[in-house]
Formats: sequence, structure tokens, C-alpha cells
Amino acid sequence: MEPNINYILEKLHNRTPKELAEIEKAYEFAKKAHKDQKRYSGEPYFVHPFEATKILAGIQVDTPTIIATLLHDVCEDGVATPKEITKKFGKEVAFLVEGVTKLGTVKYQGIERHVENLRKMLLSMAEDIRVIIIKIADRLHNMQTLNNVPKHKQERIALETLEVYAPLANRLGMGKFKGMLEDMAFKFIYTKEYKWLTENMTEAKQKQEIYLAKVKQKISEELKNNNIKIEKIDSRVKNLFSVYQKLLRKDMDLNRIYDIVAVRIITNSIEDCYATLGIIHRLWKPVPGKIKDYIALPKPNGYQSIHTTVFCINGKVTEFQIRTQKMHEEAENGIAAHWAYSIKGKPKEGGKVNKEISWISELREWQKESAGSHEFLDSLKIDLFKNRIFVFTPKGDVIDLPDGANPLDFAYNIHTDIGNHCSGAIVNNKMVSLDYPLQNGEICDILTNKNKKPTRTWLNLVKTNYAKNKIRSYLKRELGIEIVPAVNLQKIRNYEIKIITTNRIGVVKDILAMFHKNKINLSKLNTEASDKKRPITTIRFCTRNSSLADQTISNIKKVKGVKDVKKIQIIK
Ligand code: MN
Repeated sequence: MEPNINYILEKLHNRTPKELAEIEKAYEFAKKAHKDQKRYSGEPYFVHPFEATKILAGIQVDTPTIIATLLHDVCEDGVATPKEITKKFGKEVAFLVEGVTKLGTVKYQGIERHVENLRKMLLSMAEDIRVIIIKIADRLHNMQTLNNVPKHKQERIALETLEVYAPLANRLGMGKFKGMLEDMAFKFIYTKEYKWLTENMTEAKQKQEIYLAKVKQKISEELKNNNIKIEKIDSRVKNLFSVYQKLLRKDMDLNRIYDIVAVRIITNSIEDCYATLGIIHRLWKPVPGKIKDYIALPKPNGYQSIHTTVFCINGKVTEFQIRTQKMHEEAENGIAAHWAYSIKGKPKEGGKVNKEISWISELREWQKESAGSHEFLDSLKIDLFKNRIFVFTPKGDVIDLPDGANPLDFAYNIHTDIGNHCSGAIVNNKMVSLDYPLQNGEICDILTNKNKKPTRTWLNLVKTNYAKNKIRSYLKRELGIEIVPAVNLQKIRNYEIKIITTNRIGVVKDILAMFHKNKINLSKLNTEASDKKRPITTIRFCTRNSSLADQTISNIKKVKGVKDVKKIQIIK
């Protein structure tokens, strides 16, 4: 498609006239700068930055990112200087363009360089995530046009995509991008497998989709009967590479993968997510152990949804994913979805319920607090790995540790023997003590001495549970000292409760809200409809905190329509 600025502007009608004028200026600048350059396909080079920008305009990144994406290759190709960019587009845009240019100079050349590349990316990430977002869009378009690239380069680029960019997109919660990058790389790296899978999956997919049409109809009716209005119900198809990875664990038998297609229900509120879950479980028996509540406990990349697998129509094992519209956008576009929300105005959901530990909500809080554009910019320069540090071995391997970890943690992370015989450490060429708090990006060299042994004091020194466990097991094995970890004093208790209710619509929803309020995850939920007048809801959950469990149960007793709660405690 011939570049035309209208394709970009039509997605950005929420921007001010001043911003749009800047975008147009950047468009013309980049077009002119690249005018004598061609891509491998023979197309004008400008097609590339244009298409990359279109991708990001589609997910509503902020205006400086749009401008920087248009300009992302002008410095690398030497057709413009960073000075010029600063003068014409300001410091912020120049900073982003420079970030992308810097990353572009590092190419994947086997494992050694790959680590180096990864390291630079991670460190730059700490400075500004938008650089990574531009790189991801850049890579997405390069992968879309990889066919035109000389054969000997294709594999390197595809491998780098699979090993560096797809995981980064995933880390940023950009699920849609991650899936696209993986599948395009998959095609070039495992050509035969890709062909086999696309051929075989079409049939499996079609079968599943016909079946799911029935499931969707049934669940839609049932939701309607219960007055739960939903935003959307559709099916999500697992991306090819994910199916492939699962196949490797399932003897390459497609019939053993039940979630090629899953039902996805988009609701209007968190409460409705749980209510929908209740209805699904009332209709069909859940497969034990397959309920995952990522709303109460989001994945590390911020992903939120409820997943459940049930014995559905005709007893077929079927997966459901339930989430709100906002969670859906975040799952697809990740961190970028936040700009979309901040641009559109106030987030749709109150946010209070949602205030967990995840970095996503931290970012949201910062965005709310920082009204001025300058502060807003600062807030974007967050360290994505806020509570993590990356420390390197002298060989360049990356060790991922929690903030505050020391050389002893580092040593145990490399190898138990190295931990057990650790006698000292050199960090960035300086001797440090074993309790020295390591910093992001440092290079740590562990000194060992075969006469050195773990002592009890080491237990208080290390920050990671991993190292603690290793030290504990050494002390027990070699010295017969058994140290009971504090957490084990509080046993995890499993609770099962039976709740007898009236037939009031919404009663299950209100009960679930009590669990949600106390951040307790359910492992089982079942409502028996056999006795129409007095349905019995069985809920199983676990917690270390028995008073929290009691409090939740007493809250449930107060819910309108609840007649009786019977508690059965199962101690594991
Ligand atoms: Mn590029």
C-alpha cells in the first residue's frame, strides 16, 4: 500500500491540532530523508517507518512515540543527525529515536552476542519503555516483509524475533504482538513443522468452531436469563507457535489439545466476571484444578482474566476465558493500552478493586498522579522490572534477582556448589562483602574456596527463598541442623463450605464478591440446581490466614438470600 498520512491520522482523531501538525511534519521529514533509499523488495524505504507507525497508531501510543516511529530509521541510515531531530522535534522525540538507533547497532550473532543484545535492551528499557515498543513495531513490520530479505539473513532475524522480541512483547503484556511475532518467526525457523501444523490445524480448528457456536448460544441465553449483560462473546484461537509448543509436550497429538479454540466472554465489570463464572459452573462441571483466577492474582506481566475448563456440551472439555473490556485491551496491547486510556480520558473501571501489586497498576497510579506533561514523561521512564535486578556473570549471562539481592543470592542462582563454597565476590572489578546489595547491570564474579561452608548466619543474609532453601538443606544434610522456616508455621488450610441460599438472582455473585474483597482464590465452585427452592453452592478455597477465612464466611452469612453456611475444613 502506498504510504498516505491519512491512514495514520484517521486513527488519531483524539489528538490536538498541534500534535497532528507535528505528526505531519515528521511524516514529511522522514519521507524526504529516505527518498533515495529502497527496501529489499524494491519498494521505497519510507514504506517501512510508515507501516510501523500505522501499527502503533492502531494501539494509541502517545504522540511523541508516533513521531519517533516515523523517524526511527533516519539516524541509523545516516540521512539525518540527532542534532537535527532535537532541533526540529524536541528532546523527547530525539531521545526516543536515539534509543532505537542504539539498539539497532546490536545484532544477534549466536548466543554470546544475543546475551549482550538482550542486556542492552533490558537496560535501555529501564530508561524508557517506549523505545522497546517502537522496536517491537519495527520488528513486526520487518517480519511481515521477511520474504524479501536474502535467505542467509532470514534465519538470524527470525531467531532473534523468537528469542528476544516475542518474550519482550510478552513481558510488556502485548499478547497480540507476541503471538504475531512468534508465528511469523515460527514459519521461517521450523518451516516443515509450520506447514504440517497449518494444514492439520485448519481441520481441528473448524471442528472446534462449529462446536463452539452451540456453546456460545447456550451460554448467551443463560447469561441473558440471569440478567448479566455482556460486552462480547467470541472465540479465541491459540496462536500457532503456542499450539506447537504444547504439541511437543503432548506427543504431537492435536486431539489432546483442547484449547485450540476457547470461548472468550467480555463483561462490563469484575463482578460480572465472577457471576459469569458461577453460571458456567452451574451449567457444566468444571475440570478439577483448571480454574485460574488471574483477576485476583494477575500474571507477572499484568495479565488478568478468569480461566476455567469445564466438561461442556456432550462432555467435551472446553476452556472459557472471562475478562472485562479493559482487561481485554490490556491483554492484547499491554502497556500501550494505558496510553489509550489516558488519552481517552478516565479509565472505565473504578480501579479500587484492582489495586494489586502488578506494575501495570503502579503505572496507572503514576499516570493519575502526574497531570503535567513533564511529570508524565518522567513517569513513563519507569523501570519495568521495578522489583527485579539483572546482574551479569563475567561471561555475560543474565541472572534475574529480586531487588536487594546480594552476591550470595547470585552465587546460589548460578549453582548450588558455587553458593555453598562462596567466599567472596568482585563486583565491577571491586571486592565487595557478601551482603552487598547488587545493582542493575553490574557484573559479579564469585570467588569460591572449597573449605568454605554455609553457616546459620547465611540464612539471614540471603534475600531469595531459593538460596534460603539451599542453605537450609545443606545445614540439615551436613550438620543435622533443622531450621523450620517461619512460613511453614502457618499451614495452608483448605476449606470447603456449603451455602444454602434462596433463588435470588445475583446471590452467587454477591457471595463471590466477598472472596474477591479478601483476595481469596477459589479452587472449586459448584451450584446444585437440583432443589430449585434451596440451591446449594459449594465453594472450596485455601488460605494460610484462618481468621481471614472466618471473616469471609461471616461476611457471606450477611449476604441477602443466604440461609445457612456450613464450614468443612480440610487440612492438608
Ligand atoms: Mn526500522
